[in-house]
Amino acid sequence: MTVVGGGVVGLSIAWQAATTGRSVAVVDAEPGRGSSWAAAGMLAPAGEAHFGEDPLARLNVAAAARWPAFARDLEEASDSSVGYRADGTLLVAVDHADRQAVDDLLRYQLELGLDASRLTASECRHLEPLLTPGVSGGAEFRHDHQVDNRAVVRALLDACRAAGVVFVSDRVRGIVTRRGRIERVDLEGGGFRATVAVVLAAGAWSGTIAGVPSPSVPPVRPVRGLTLRLRAEGTTGTLARTVRGAVHGRHCYLVPRNDGSLVVGATSEEKGFDLSVPVGATAVLLADARELFPALDEYALVELATGLRPGSPDNAPIVGRASPEGLVVATGHYRNGFLLAPVTADAVVALLDGAPDVEAFRPFTPERFGPERAGPTPAEAGAR
Ligand SMILES: Cc1cc2nc3c(=O)[nH]c(=O)nc-3n(C[C@H](O)[C@H](O)[C@H](O)COP(=O)(O)OP(=O)(O)OC[C@H]3O[C@@H](n4cnc5c(N)ncnc54)[C@H](O)[C@@H]3O)c2cc1C
Repeated sequence: MTVVGGGVVGLSIAWQAATTGRSVAVVDAEPGRGSSWAAAGMLAPAGEAHFGEDPLARLNVAAAARWPAFARDLEEASDSSVGYRADGTLLVAVDHADRQAVDDLLRYQLELGLDASRLTASECRHLEPLLTPGVSGGAEFRHDHQVDNRAVVRALLDACRAAGVVFVSDRVRGIVTRRGRIERVDLEGGGFRATVAVVLAAGAWSGTIAGVPSPSVPPVRPVRGLTLRLRAEGTTGTLARTVRGAVHGRHCYLVPRNDGSLVVGATSEEKGFDLSVPVGATAVLLADARELFPALDEYALVELATGLRPGSPDNAPIVGRASPEGLVVATGHYRNGFLLAPVTADAVVALLDGAPDVEAFRPFTPERFGPERAGPTPAEAGAR
């Protein structure tokens, strides 16, 4: 089988498929360097529960429960740490309106049965003493954990190689079919790869592969996001857990890593396939993060990374069989690609094994969008 795209989703599928005895190739010119490289690695079923997204929230809870075993297996297979941390997450509000918004969200999360509890301002500062005294209150999500996204990607690359996955350093131009079945994929470099099964996992570019019949083209669009990576200098204090903030109607988060560094995120902009770093949005993000956590001034700014989240029309993943025969789509993971990668890999392997469908992904099949498709054209995607 051939996996088109080596981000966290494609690599997780390739690894799991190879460990069950399949012969697997991943085609990607820059595996691991897409959205998966820019991400923060939060595994956040509660923090990412948004009004009106109940089926996705339920999938996210199941996905979070799958992570500890996935992390353990991946660490064993790659002989490296993926930085899984189960410290929980604190959501804090700054002004009165932010507090109201946090309370409204909390009510919805509790209705969904998510593990969340309301905290006063002093309880927030007791948990994280370095937060600004201006915090007006918040909530704790004990089951929102994190991994180091880049450590996960590196571990997946190693685990794939150890399991015999072949890496083809190229981009897929198109899928070629014969009598309704997949025959090969053509590569941009001029070659081709004979294959009868293709997993389309090219993130935000998944709608741009030629030869996919229009009803099967996943309607994904790129949603640009920026994270900042910061290093602690000297005796700078850090956070004990991930902190998400509602700051004057905007959102930001600070994710502490085991080595004392911090990931600050994230912006969200619809600018097509443009990966440049926006000055205005970066300044606002940094100002909000500093307001929450004044000790940020003692950190050194190491890197700004942008990535393109694969957004779908309902913000949920698109996973399932599609025509022609032999095609499985695994994309549209938007804000939750790390959280959802293990359960997506399980589902895709089950489909490849012949399962008629996978219950957890029934609400998220490619057919749910009907014949109207909103994906970019290959020409638009050329601006990568
Ligand atoms: C700023 C930011 C923060 C985020 N934070 C989180 C978070 O905390 N938690 C979380 O769960 N998610 C987070 N996400 C979302 C997560 O990063 C994505 O959902 C996830 O990375 C998607 O994985 P993917 O494998 O589908 O796509 P990608 O990682 O983008 O990988 C797609 C791959 O396909 C390849 N490709 C493209 N076209 C072709 C082609 N024609 N042929 C072959 N290969 C091709 C690309 O080179 C790329 O390597 C964040 C995203 C961003 C941008």
